Amino acid sequence: MTLNLVFLGPPGVGKGTYAKELSKRYNIPHISTGDIFREEIRKGTELGKKVKSYVERGELVPDEIVIEVVRKRLSQDDCKRGFILDGFPRTINQAIALDSIVKVDLVFNFVAPKSVIIERLSGRRICQKCGAIYHIKFNPPKRPGICDKCGGPLYQREDDKPEVIEERLRVYEKQTAPIVDYYRKKGILVEVDASRNMEEVIKDCEQILKAKGLLQ
Ligand code: AMP
Repeated sequence: MTLNLVFLGPPGVGKGTYAKELSKRYNIPHISTGDIFREEIRKGTELGKKVKSYVERGELVPDEIVIEVVRKRLSQDDCKRGFILDGFPRTINQAIALDSIVKVDLVFNFVAPKSVIIERLSGRRICQKCGAIYHIKFNPPKRPGICDKCGGPLYQREDDKPEVIEERLRVYEKQTAPIVDYYRKKGILVEVDASRNMEEVIKDCEQILKAKGLLQ
């Protein structure tokens, strides 16, 4: 039995936070294409140089680049029992490519009103060292600007700044929303109300996974 999951939803809906938690509970990798790109950019690799301008402007990286990255990552041993894809697929082309690589068991579509999303994104802070996610209002670190877990410095993503947020939400609506239809037609889509707190959202996800026979 595999736990091959895709998490969909606009930027800021909390996908990364839920994915990190479920990945820890079920010992399957959390694969975020955004995290992969940010890491490559930070390290200044060939791939990082190729994708930097897209990521910083909040535009989509070309399909052929993203698909190759995901194909390579999914071929690694730690993905054999399952994985959580977060931020991929974002276009129909990517969804079709994913189907040719692996069988997706279930797709969670996380939804929340736009006002909630904007508030979550603009207050989000991330640890530069360990990637832990905070929110200045809803989940603040004990000491401002410093990670509780590792003491690393917190930063705000370039693309979480208000002028870029609007663009990312527009891009999401236009290019990614059709993917919801794609998976709905396949009968493997479930919708989760992500405007609630994390514990409730996670509990919901686990109940759904059990009901679908994907978890004991
Ligand atoms: P995220 O952390 O998922 O919000 O992704 C940050 C940025 O990385 C996006 O705004 C895109 O520039 C790029 N990116 C991440 N995943 C993809 C994808 N599946 N397709 C195209 N671009 C992506």
